[in-house]
This record gives sequence, C-alpha cells and structure tokens, in this order.
Amino acid sequence: MDVALVTGAAGFVGSHLVEALLAEGRHVRGIDCFTPYYDRSTKEANLAEARRSGAFEFHEADLRTTDLSSLLDDVEVVFHQAAQPGVRLSWAEGFAEYESCNLLVTQRLLEAARGLPLRRFVYASSSSVYGNAPQYPTSEASPASPQSPYGVTKLAAEHLCRLYASNYGIPTVSLRYFTVYGPRQRPDMATHRLIEAALNGHPFPLYGDGSHVRDFTFVGDVVAANLLASRQPLSAGEVINICAGGSVTMSELIEMVGTAVDGSVSVDLQPEQPGDVHRTGGDGTVALKLLGWSPQTSLSQGISAQVAWHRAQRRSGPPPVVG
Ligand code: NAD
Repeated sequence: MDVALVTGAAGFVGSHLVEALLAEGRHVRGIDCFTPYYDRSTKEANLAEARRSGAFEFHEADLRTTDLSSLLDDVEVVFHQAAQPGVRLSWAEGFAEYESCNLLVTQRLLEAARGLPLRRFVYASSSSVYGNAPQYPTSEASPASPQSPYGVTKLAAEHLCRLYASNYGIPTVSLRYFTVYGPRQRPDMATHRLIEAALNGHPFPLYGDGSHVRDFTFVGDVVAANLLASRQPLSAGEVINICAGGSVTMSELIEMVGTAVDGSVSVDLQPEQPGDVHRTGGDGTVALKLLGWSPQTSLSQGISAQVAWHRAQRRSGPPPVVG
C-alpha cells in the first residue's frame, strides 16, 4: 500500500492537503501533536472531515520525540507541513519551540527517510527566507536573508533538505509559500483577525501604517502545488516559490474585506512588529516551468471563500479562540 504522509495534518494547510489527497483516492497517514500555538478544538475541527474517511489514519505524535520508522512504513510521499509558525513569537525564549519543531523535526524526518524508496519529500518552506528582498518580484535566485528567527529556522530546514538530497539522494523539494489565506486560516494571521474584527464590528489592530505589501496565496492553490510537486519530475533538492504574484497593501486588504462583509472596518494602529518585512512578492516563473503550476484563485474569490467560512463557523459555534 502506497501511503501519503502529511505532517502537521491538523493545521491550516495540512488539513486541506489531507482532504485533497483523500479525494484523489490516496491512503493518507496524518501526524500532529496539537501544539498549543492555537486552540486544539480548532485543529480537531480541521480534521473532522478527514476522520470520516476509512482511507485516513491519524497519529497523535510529537515529531520531536516519536519513533519515526514505523510512521514511515510504506510511505511513498512525505508532505512535511508541521512547524511552529508565525514570526512574532520566534524571538527570545520562544525560539526554542521554533528550533525544535522546525529544524530538529525536519532533520529527524530526513534521517528516518534515508534509504527508503520515497518518490518525493515535499517540505513547506516560506517566503520569510528572503527577508527584505533586494528586488520584487523575488525569484529563487535572490539571496536568502531572513528577517526573523522563524525565517532562519525555515531556511535552515531548507538547507537540510538540500544537503540530504545531495548526500543521500532523498528526493526533496522545498516550496516557499507566500502568505497563505483561505478557509481555516490560522487565527493569528492578519486576514483571519481582520475578517473576525469586521464581522464582530471591532477595530482591527493593524501593525504598521497599512503600507506593508503581501503576496496573498490561496490555500487551494498551495495544495495544488503540493500535489504537482509530489509527481512532476524534479531534480532532488529543488526550491520553488509558491506565490500568487500579487502586490496588495494591508490598507487595500482592509478595504477588500470591508466590501466582502458589506461594511467597513475600523483600524486600531499599532507599532510595527520586529521581524515583519515591509514587502513580500514572489516570482512564479519556476513553479510554472517545473510544476506547470500557476495560481487559479483571485484575491477577491479567495477572500469571499474565507469570509463564507468565518460566517459558517459562527453559525456552528463560538469563533475560534486566538492562542
Ligand atoms: P499550522 O500551525 O496551522 O499547522 C502546523 C501544524 O503542525 C499544527 O497543527 C501543529 O500542531 C503541527 N506541529 C507543529 N510541531 C509539531 C510537532 N513537533 N509534532 C507534530 N506536529 C507538530 O500552520 P500552517 O499555517 O498550516 O503552516 C503549514 C506549514 O506552512 C508550516 O511549515 C509553515 O511554516 C509553512 N508556511 C505557512 C505559511 C502561511 O501563510 N500559513 C506561509 C509560509 C510557510
């Protein structure tokens, strides 16, 4: 039996990926330890649909310590999504979680994958590896110079993927996601907080003056990129931007969300946060060339889908707790 292994299966991106693999008729093994970065009940809800499938097995396990050999039994493709996410908590004593969940876990998985007949090891990297890039749109050839400890751990894990590819032939590919949004988005992320503020009629705490630019990428498109990255012929150790290619300021996003909820959003201006880069913007040429991938979801379509999800959540229970 060929198994697709998804780490971080209860998370935002991981849970969507699990469902897409199940819809393709794959046998999926999901792993997650429900880190307290945000509420466990939110992550359990993310898994609810997948748990109804007989082709899904779920293991509650901490990848920092669990025995990985049995979890990798019969695995054909690894989709490594698990991480301690977010920039702001990665400073000071928070760093230990980032170092262990992002770096040590990736090293343990790669070690355990040595000698296995894997078709692909897909690693969820991040645009945060670029920091404040010297040029936009930013291509994979741009120097990586993270601006946050989180970005440092994502880049270091990418280097591990590359060197396990060159030394041991593990067929890794690192996908550098640019600001993923959509249904189930993590409660700490700006679009999630913005939509909740708009629906509650509360002011939205905006870090900075609204001029920060982001390249927002819809979660369904990110999932599609993962599926293609698992089956297209690629050189081991490849690095690929997964970006929508847009340049939207936070002020523009606030206006779009206001339109989507038929209202306006008031803003509570907060100081810029250390580690936040001023701009992200990816060049998707390599993704198109190597994966045949391009984004299919416009920002307004994606925002409507996310707003609809927040509305459905409110009908079915209390809004997710921000942890
Ligand atoms: P998420 O927090 O929703 O999901 C990550 C999951 O990993 C969580 O459910 C968590 O419990 C699990 N996890 C963490 N450490 C673990 C461990 N030691 N053992 C087992 N499970 C563990 O985050 P997300 O937004 O879905 O991000 C998924 C991946 O994409 C991450 O690697 C993140 O760095 C990367 N990424 C996300 C974005 C984005 O905008 N969401 C952007 C760039 C990169």
